[in-house]
Amino acid sequence: MFRETSHPAFEASLVPADSSPSSDPVAKARALAQAMAPLTPPQRLALLRRELDGRLVFTHGFGIEGQLLFHWICEQNLAIDVVTLDTGRLFPETYELWEKTEARYGRRIRAIYPDGAALERLVARDGMFGFYDSVEARHACCGVRKVKPLEEALSGAQAWLTGVRADQTDTRHAASLADFEHGRGLIKVNPLLDWTRARVLAEVAAHDVPINALHAKGFASIGCEPCTRAIKPGESERNGRWWWEQGGSRECGLHLPKAG
Ligand code: SF4
Repeated sequence: MFRETSHPAFEASLVPADSSPSSDPVAKARALAQAMAPLTPPQRLALLRRELDGRLVFTHGFGIEGQLLFHWICEQNLAIDVVTLDTGRLFPETYELWEKTEARYGRRIRAIYPDGAALERLVARDGMFGFYDSVEARHACCGVRKVKPLEEALSGAQAWLTGVRADQTDTRHAASLADFEHGRGLIKVNPLLDWTRARVLAEVAAHDVPINALHAKGFASIGCEPCTRAIKPGESERNGRWWWEQGGSRECGLHLPKAG
């Protein structure tokens, strides 16, 4: 269980005077990552809010990691913009969790929706389930319903907070606690990067944080309803996503680097 601890880096300013965002955002991200490493995740969140002047955006997908991060954001009343990308294809259980979470914490989670005209063109071309037909069609759907809305969510932000953990996939294994994303022009922060799923679940249970009812039915990573299924014991937690595709990164594009 997380216990509040006092660490020197938690209280002291960590950023050298010559590494302000305007002078060198890469150095700033590196300094943040170094300062965050010995801290607990809630301390990392507080440090980010203290060290960065601009808008911080946390994209909440209602997974167990996101629920725990949201718990800590609310607990510390941090001025972090919490948004979710509502693709329109989420599980009813996810919408129920969304409402339950807002009620528990007394804080609205801002929804961002796909562009209506782009969605009309997509469905007119590919139909309601065209994403099963090819990887290209699947990426087109994720592009309209997730990746473009993400760009809107992050517009003007100084940093983007995610629930990514290193042990989720090989591509996520290469992520950092904080890194400057040149393509998006912001610092991407993964406060739970070095935590395991078991540790997240233990912390969620300790604080009675609400989680998706589907986890009790074998669902590990939960995204859109038509593209997510339960996994078997021992399977990788991302195997329930886009299961009909062979190989690939099991990513929708949100956590892949954006071309600069
Ligand atoms: S996960 Fe499936 S339904 Fe959701 S945006 Fe991607 S392809 Fe479309």
